[in-house]
Amino acid sequence: VKLRLEHALLESGVEAGVLLEIEGGWITSVRVEGQSLSLSGDVSVDNDRIPRPAGETSTLTLPGFANCHSHAFHRALRGHTQRERGSFWTWREQMYAVAADLTPDTYFELARDTYAEMRATGITAVGEFHYLHHQPDGTPYDDPNEMGKALLAAADEAGIRIRLLDTCYLASGFGLPPEGVQVRYSDGDAHAWAERVAAFGDPRVGAAIHSVRAVPRDQLPVVVEAARGLPLHVHLSEQVAENEACLAATGLTPTQLLAEAGALGPLTSAVHATHLTDDDIRLLGESGTNICFCPTTERDLADGIGPARRLHDAGATLTLGSDSHAVIDMLEEMRAVEMHERLATQQRGHWSARELLAAATYDGHRSLGFEDAGRIEVGQRADLVTVDLDSIRTRGAGASAETVVFAATAADVVCLRTRPGASSDTRPERA
Ligand SMILES: [Zn+2]
Repeated sequence: VKLRLEHALLESGVEAGVLLEIEGGWITSVRVEGQSLSLSGDVSVDNDRIPRPAGETSTLTLPGFANCHSHAFHRALRGHTQRERGSFWTWREQMYAVAADLTPDTYFELARDTYAEMRATGITAVGEFHYLHHQPDGTPYDDPNEMGKALLAAADEAGIRIRLLDTCYLASGFGLPPEGVQVRYSDGDAHAWAERVAAFGDPRVGAAIHSVRAVPRDQLPVVVEAARGLPLHVHLSEQVAENEACLAATGLTPTQLLAEAGALGPLTSAVHATHLTDDDIRLLGESGTNICFCPTTERDLADGIGPARRLHDAGATLTLGSDSHAVIDMLEEMRAVEMHERLATQQRGHWSARELLAAATYDGHRSLGFEDAGRIEVGQRADLVTVDLDSIRTRGAGASAETVVFAATAADVVCLRTRPGASSDTRPERA
């Protein structure tokens, strides 16, 4: 397949007139018109969703987005929890009520529809943080991985790449057993969790520690060992109450506790990282841990504003997720990182549009273990998302990274080109 992209974001920046060759879903050639030899053969224009007369098209094509933190079933809460007063903890009660009733069939249906929405908004890969493992009374299903397999099937049906982050969840708090619906989450201990995950037998499975409040201190290293070589995600310091309980129980902050367990590093993603000490920031940065911010959820749940730029400057890598799916719009997640820091500091310009796009594309894919996607270059997957530059929001703003990050929304995504496949797809040799 040969494509001519009117504008595309390459590593060199936004270029006009980009000619791509794609074989079997992989990019085999990238050339910029006027900068290279002419291509032989016909060149087709990729505008399969909104055809426009020649000369009037105006689009910018980006690498597909990676949504690194998702709980697909939380989509059912949209519009129902954004009312009345409360906190993260009152929201959690509403979320638990949904979790209590889900079956493998309804879990599948919710996820399939959520992933379809992601796809329609330019997301080509998702990290699904999955902890709803067992039957309502805590008994495993006949196949103990039935719920996880429902998510994989949902991703296949929607046509989105998935890293299933199978989550260890054993406790309701420090020294406390699981209570209520949490019995559906618990495998009993970390060894039993690891055995169930090992039996899954699918290369798309990664690992997660729900949080330091949900996995006891002595069992954290068991999860870390079982996850060696796999992406490992963990909710970190989303709430001040979690930090206080952790300090009271262990004398350490949640970040220090994870560091003690060997859980930090470039294959680890700390999700939220909202309320941190200077030492936490140093530990996360020096270990090269990924930091997954979920700004539209963090503001919906009144979590607070995390120190994104300070984490980046310390050595951590920013990624992004839509988490509870109060909205699914990766452009809004990118924009919100910068805008929230402006509100918190009364200063503009913490993040460039290019840096935010890197978080939502290549860095996000890499944090999910997908190093073969997120850039428009030879040897990468041809996962492409095209944004309309002539919509009511983007008209006249120009073909730039700044336009898509600071003016466009998910509604401006007009074309998605991807061939999801399984992670076992092999990449052709580079020429
Ligand atoms: Zn989460």
